[in-house]
Amino acid sequence: MSSAVSASGRPDPQDEVVSICRDLLRIDTTNPGDGSGPGERAAAELVAELLAEVGLEPQLFESEPGRASVVVRVEGDPAGTAERGALLLHGHLDVVPARADDWSVHPFSGEVTTETTDDPETPEQEFLWGRGAVDMKDMDAMLLAVVRDLVRRGERPPRDLVLAFMADEEAGGVKGAHWLVDHHAGLFEGVTAAVSEVGGFSTTIGTGSSAQRTYLLQTAEKGIAWLRLVAHGRAGHGSQVNTDNAVTRLCEAVARIGSHPWPVEVTPTVRAFLDGVTDITGVEFDPADPSALLDQLGTTARWVGATLRDTANPTLLEAGYKHNVIPGTATALLDCRFLPGHEERLVETVRELAGEGVEVQDVHRDVALETDFAVPLVDRMVEALHAEDPGARVLPYCLSGGTDNKSFSQLGIPGYGFAPLRLPAGLDFAGLFHGVDERVPLDALRFGTRVLQRFVASA
Ligand SMILES: [Zn+2]
Repeated sequence: MSSAVSASGRPDPQDEVVSICRDLLRIDTTNPGDGSGPGERAAAELVAELLAEVGLEPQLFESEPGRASVVVRVEGDPAGTAERGALLLHGHLDVVPARADDWSVHPFSGEVTTETTDDPETPEQEFLWGRGAVDMKDMDAMLLAVVRDLVRRGERPPRDLVLAFMADEEAGGVKGAHWLVDHHAGLFEGVTAAVSEVGGFSTTIGTGSSAQRTYLLQTAEKGIAWLRLVAHGRAGHGSQVNTDNAVTRLCEAVARIGSHPWPVEVTPTVRAFLDGVTDITGVEFDPADPSALLDQLGTTARWVGATLRDTANPTLLEAGYKHNVIPGTATALLDCRFLPGHEERLVETVRELAGEGVEVQDVHRDVALETDFAVPLVDRMVEALHAEDPGARVLPYCLSGGTDNKSFSQLGIPGYGFAPLRLPAGLDFAGLFHGVDERVPLDALRFGTRVLQRFVASA
């Protein structure tokens, strides 16, 4: 794709965003989580090149060979920086694995296709395909296009910007954001807020005449407790009576935990979101039966449903080595996600449900986050969205997964999910995350670039 040049002689950021995103998608940065992937180095070098090309001085950091992140500071207005601190804009460069055989086009092709959509406003849309198209090379490209344009114009942002493009988010950020925070905290000196995924996308709330395009801003995210159950018992011959069998004990514990009815509990962010949905649709939230309201959310219900309660899902079982031998131990892995403030209670409940003879071990934990929606920075996000999509609603929401904002919270930096995309109604956006056939509308990339330009100029 050739970059069109505007009348001013500068490349148009709305063209650049597409070509940058395509170039990033063509670099395989798969992160399987066990260190076996290609790493992010090639993508990080491209990002550093794009930043250096306009005269910025990016720094490239490797937590270990191939696991690269890029950070650059763009000097802003000193008065604004003194008053509001610096703003961190960040994205991750790694992607989750994609099996090419499952996809309609190759996941690292960066192909563009035209599709018809269910949205009468945009019946035809061009889509850019690739693993990372929405998670989150789209936002990486939007940030790069916005900042390159800003610098080319010789404009100074209203306060210092720190841009960071990270390795390893998809495996908890241990070799990316967490590593940078632990080893190079000085890069984030003076930063008072962070903006990244997963929020700013549009979804349709309500059905029929109450249907309303609504942008979800992420102001909270659930915490992570990856736990291991280890059941102990008496090893022995498979032909004998054994009332102390580790496999039986583990399975009973897994069944109790997996079928535990975690109570519905509404945190402040989720309350604000639910009130907004009620306001749009007239449907009240009933804690005893959340489904009536979730039905108003379309494909986004999958994400929101998981933010009404803590969850604990068994994901892996391991025991035994021969058909006629009872093993002395059996293990299971649990993926538990807790709402803000619920960490200790969730782990305590899992311990009780596991019962006697079953150890509960920590594998990985990370914090839950909840930040204030009523702050000027969020007002700037809402204004930028409204300037580009005047009739839309904007609501705060809680993410059921996690982002690199967890790492930056260790430095006291509140994080927001604002990677703006105006999406065609009916697109299963939640299903594209880590799903097959991940792709992003070109118009959404251009929209997001315009919104971020406005936001950065006013933040
Ligand atoms: Zn992501």
